[in-house]
Formats: sequence, structure tokens, C-alpha cells
Amino acid sequence: MKKIQMVDLSSQYQRLKHEIDLRIQSIMEQGHFIHGPSVKLLEEELQEFLQVKHVIGVGNGTDALQLAFMALDLQPGDEVIIPSFAYAALPEVLLLLNLKPVFVDVTAATFCLDVTQIEQKITKKTKAIAPVHLFGGVAEMDSIIQIAKKYGLFVIEDAAQSIGAQYCSGATYGFAGCLGDIGTTSFFPSKNLGCYGDGGAVFTNSDLLAEKVRKLANHGQSKKYFHDIVGVNSRLDTIQAEILRIKLSKLVEYNQIRNDLAEQYISGLSGIDDLILPSKSTHSTHVFHQFTLRLKGQSETREQFRNYLTNQGIPSMVYYPLPLHKQIAYLQDVQLKVSEQLCEDVISLPICPELTHENQEYIINNIRQYFKKN
Ligand SMILES: *Cc1c(COP(=O)(O)O)cnc(C)c1O
Repeated sequence: MKKIQMVDLSSQYQRLKHEIDLRIQSIMEQGHFIHGPSVKLLEEELQEFLQVKHVIGVGNGTDALQLAFMALDLQPGDEVIIPSFAYAALPEVLLLLNLKPVFVDVTAATFCLDVTQIEQKITKKTKAIAPVHLFGGVAEMDSIIQIAKKYGLFVIEDAAQSIGAQYCSGATYGFAGCLGDIGTTSFFPSKNLGCYGDGGAVFTNSDLLAEKVRKLANHGQSKKYFHDIVGVNSRLDTIQAEILRIKLSKLVEYNQIRNDLAEQYISGLSGIDDLILPSKSTHSTHVFHQFTLRLKGQSETREQFRNYLTNQGIPSMVYYPLPLHKQIAYLQDVQLKVSEQLCEDVISLPICPELTHENQEYIINNIRQYFKKN
């Protein structure tokens, strides 16, 4: 049996090796390593795929978020509503820009912002809502956009884990990351669309915001050596862009495999009383960046279960062990019960497209075995 991994990038490379090696070699020979033609081609292909007007390739997913907020011209102390059960990039970027993260709870069913708890956190200083589309699902964007309109707020979407997921509810439809004012993604190697190093992108349908982000990402220059605003240096390089072009052509197929694997898990693990399986929203498709279960009971139960899996050669991960409002760096004295509970009971299983049928059967059988005994 093949060794089971959470993410199996080397098997994926073996399958794409011929094409990738040829294209990388050709870039090496052309010598356009920065702002080469592949970057523009990738941006255009992503615009077409996501049906969004502008895609701007940048250095990584965290930079993409930083650039999105820099483009909005917010004032120090302005508040941004974000989920507490998510990755750290959002509060980090906000605090670096002297903005204030205002943490809101998520729902256990979606792992995304609880839209019923947003309005009570809005103050005179609130300027934006920033949902994170966690694990491959999509937040309840129609409600979020309605609230944003009512209070005159921007909507910035973190779609690092949900590229390719589609949403449709009420007046809101389209791809994750392309529904609000600005969306961002990450091309970190383990993401659904990942490169072989760092990379990210910003999405927007606004010409004005696109121009601003492009300028900010390029030292605030309008022309070479003429700097209009204080920017940063954040570029997607040519080799990464070319690798992403190859992988973008497989994204639909890979996301479908992830969905098939999720279905296998759901049918294979159904009927186990101690487990809560993830469910798909009726408003969106899912791209299963993670397959995340919840364990009923105490966190010791989870540790015991994870140890068992490790001993059986089955890797697992806890995304995430501590909510953002309880992190030392972003500490806030609020209570967000669902986020706190999820951090105690979630566990993610391998779901990469390279996971073999045989290996998934092995994982399912071992988990069934464990809950029969315990
Ligand atoms: C991966 C990730 C990021 C950060 O992306 P980098 O490219 O590593 O900077 C931001 N937000 C979420 C939700 C992520 O999963």
C-alpha cells in the first residue's frame, strides 16, 4: 500500500512532470523571470474561469489580503468584521495596517461567519466585512452582501481555500472570491490550486480597485521610477504563473475528485454516533480543500483518536486548534462559543486528489474499527 499523506504533491508532479519540466525549461531559456508573459496569461485565464473582470497575481495569499485592505483607503482604528474560526492571515494583516479586527462567531454547519451575529457588532467605525470561505465551502454571501449594503460596508472575501466553488442565492451568484468588492486567494503548494513556492491573487470587478491594487503591489508606481503612493513589492513570478496555468487546466477535474472522495467518506463513515460529518450547503458547490469531521465529547477523545490514526499510518490535522480571539497576538476578551467548541472537536482527514481508492478504504475501515471498540 502507498504511504498515506495529507497532501501528496510529489505524486501529482509525477503525473504532470513532462509538461511542467518543458515549460519551466522554456522560461529558463527565455530569461523573463519577473513580469514574464505567463503572468498575464494566467491572469487572463483566471478571469475567464472565474468570470471576474480583474485578476492580479501577487506574492502570496497574505499579501493579497493586505493589498485588498490597502486599496480601500481606510483610517487607523477602522473596524473590520472577521470570523474567529479561520486562518491567522486576516487579523495579522488588519493589525499591521492599524485596523481593528472585530471577531464574530461561525456556524458549526458551515464553518463560516454566522450572519445572524454580524449586525450586533457593527459600530460607526465598521468599514468592512471579511468572510473566510473555509475548507472549500462558501460563506452565506447573499446575507453578508445585504448587510454590507445596508450599512455601506465593503466586502472582502478570503477565498484561499475555496477557489472554484460556486455560490448562488438570492441576487448573489458567481465564484467564491468574486462576489464581494475584492476577493483574494493563495497559491500555496497545498491549496486546491497551488504552485511550487509562494503565490497569490486578488480578484475584483471594479476597474478602480484593480488599478489601485496593481499600483500598490508594484511600489505605488504608475510608471517605472514614478511613485504616486506608498506601496509594497508583491509579485507572482513567471515560473509559478506557468505552473499554475498547467494546474488551472486540471482544477475542475481535481475539485471533482475531491467531491467524490468526500462522498465516499460520508457514505463510509455514516452511522457512527460519535462523529459529525461535514455537510454541503444548498447555496453553493464545495471544493473540499479539507474534509473536516467533528468528534462529539472531550478534546482528550480527539487526541486519543488522532494517536490511533497515527499508529495506523493515517495522518490527520487539526485546523484550527485555537480561535483567533484567543491567540496571544490578537487577543480579545470576547466569548465566541461555536469557534471555541470547534477548536476542541474538529479533525481533518486526507482528501487530496492523489489519495487512492485503496488508501481511502483503509482509512474508513480503520475509523469504523476504532468506534466499534471505543
Ligand atoms: C493559506 C491561507 C492564507 C494565506 O496564504 P499564503 O499564501 O500562505 O500567504 C490566507 N487565508 C486562508 C484562509 C488560507 O488558507
